[in-house]
Amino acid sequence: EIVVEARDVVLSFGPTPALRGADLSVGAGEILAIMGPSGSGKSTLLHCLAGILVPDSGEVHFDGRRIDNLGETERSGLRRDRFGFVFQFGQLVPELTAEENVALPLLLNGVRRAKALEQARPWFARLGLDGLEGRRSGELSGGQAQRVALARGLVARPRVLFADEPTGALDTLTSEQVMDLLVDSAREQGTTVVLVTHEPRVAAYADREVIVRDGKAHALTAEAIS
Ligand code: ADP
Ligand code: ADP
Repeated sequence: EIVVEARDVVLSFGPTPALRGADLSVGAGEILAIMGPSGSGKSTLLHCLAGILVPDSGEVHFDGRRIDNLGETERSGLRRDRFGFVFQFGQLVPELTAEENVALPLLLNGVRRAKALEQARPWFARLGLDGLEGRRSGELSGGQAQRVALARGLVARPRVLFADEPTGALDTLTSEQVMDLLVDSAREQGTTVVLVTHEPRVAAYADREVIVRDGKAHALTAEAIS
């Protein structure tokens, strides 16, 4: 069962295409790592799969349905209802406490505040964040903030978690802790994960790796690496 799929996706920001015919499919419950050098189009491909960017040509499908031709309102509804996101620097809302940040996707989905906070709370014990519920992002370490961001990405039980360099700002040990938690939590929930990283040791947590080169996605082979 294919959950997200790109078919011959082309996208240019200027004269040079960032994606020039990218094909990719991710199965249900699969954890896929998108690797490749800086500027090769990894984030652009992730943004296309997640309905954030619309390709110039080609198609993007989610759960058997074409999504690239939907309007912005429908795509943003899809992102809110079905997708979770984790970014490089956590990007927590600084004015909110850690537990309010985790509860945010639920609040945006119309869950009452008390109920949303109640659903957010177990994530703190689960991710080793006990006692940090009331902290703001400025009072958290990088690893703690990224675990809060992970909880926020998963709290609404998304069908797909999109993670763009989720450990990019962390040291090796902390990034291994975050990846362990990401993979364990996603497997427990059966969440499909699309992960962008340029770090081989992070990609090693995935079930499968693809390499983006010159705006196309390639299976991980000796030829693709050389
Ligand atoms: P990666 O994630 O592999 O580092 P990106 O997908 O971010 O690569 O970028 C691919 C190419 O597209 C790069 O040349 C980058 O500079 C360019 N690019 C990405 N986003 C934009 C944008 N919003 N405006 C203009 N150029 C962009
Ligand atoms: P990443 O590749 O990890 O997403 P970047 O620093 O490359 O991080 O990009 C951060 C943001 O800037 C993204 O939203 C991307 O689309 C945009 N961006 C990247 N390259 C360019 C560019 N050349 N011109 C304008 N925006 C860009």
